[in-house]
Amino acid sequence: MKINKELMLYCPHCNKHTKHTLRNYNKKPQRGLSLGTRRHNRAIKGYVGSIEPKIHPKKLGKKQKLITECQVCKKHGEKVVGMRTKKKIEISR
Ligand SMILES: [Zn+2]
Repeated sequence: MKINKELMLYCPHCNKHTKHTLRNYNKKPQRGLSLGTRRHNRAIKGYVGSIEPKIHPKKLGKKQKLITECQVCKKHGEKVVGMRTKKKIEISR
């Protein structure tokens, strides 16, 4: 799936449609000292492995998320292109 690098999208900060540039979304690693991680570590302290059951539902494909940047106010947003597809998105110029 190909998508243009520049798109006219709605910007909630400018309150109108402006030109946006798109780039790929890279997920950052989880913080080791966040509240959720600390609470989980406290809960499983003394046990080996995890005590909360892991459920792995079968999902068809992944959501392809892109980061958008308004060229007028330079604010960032995000856009999901194609709900749960197996195709990867290529950003063309
Ligand atoms: Zn804007």
